[in-house]
Amino acid sequence: MTYQHRYLDGSPLALPVGKVVCIGRNYLDHIRELNNAVPETPILFMKPATALANLDTPIRLPAGRGECHHEVELAVLVGRELRNANAEMARVAVAGYGIGLDLTLRDLQNDLKKKGHPWETAKAFDGACPLSPFLKPDALPEPQATDLALQVNGVWRQQGNTRLMMIGLFDLMAYMSTHFTLQPGDVVLTGTPAGVGPLHAGDTLLLRLADHGFNARLA
Ligand code: ZN
Repeated sequence: MTYQHRYLDGSPLALPVGKVVCIGRNYLDHIRELNNAVPETPILFMKPATALANLDTPIRLPAGRGECHHEVELAVLVGRELRNANAEMARVAVAGYGIGLDLTLRDLQNDLKKKGHPWETAKAFDGACPLSPFLKPDALPEPQATDLALQVNGVWRQQGNTRLMMIGLFDLMAYMSTHFTLQPGDVVLTGTPAGVGPLHAGDTLLLRLADHGFNARLA
């Protein structure tokens, strides 16, 4: 099924499907689990619109490319253009909050990193960003103090809170907008807490954002 941004009640959002702008390392506990250095400036990367998928569509992993890891992340839908914005401009530009997976071909990414190459093929493949429907901004009054979690086959793998981000989400959006214009319909992924790990065919997932639960499964 073709991806379209939706509200929680299933109604379509009148925004085009744009790019996804992501941050590589934004939770200290996740940086430590991968033995990465704490970055001096945020590490940004992008996924194209073809990476977006509805979370309720069975997730298909690329075959024959090694382990694919889940990274559960708060997703922010951009409703207004942001260029060289400040944090307050970013805050009022939010059209919705959701939760998604930054699917990562970890073996491939490690290989690319070792060679000093860009990560695109490990992060930006078709379907690499399954997304939940979006809550209206006033339905998540404290986006910077919100629990997010991921359960795989009934076991909690990732449990975090957005207050543990090193760069807050509105500062992050502002920073991103100094590098790439954020357009209405773009999505910002805000980094993952600790607990990333491999997914396998047939896995069942539960993503939690505050009191909202979203089921997903792997084909
Ligand atoms: Zn990520």
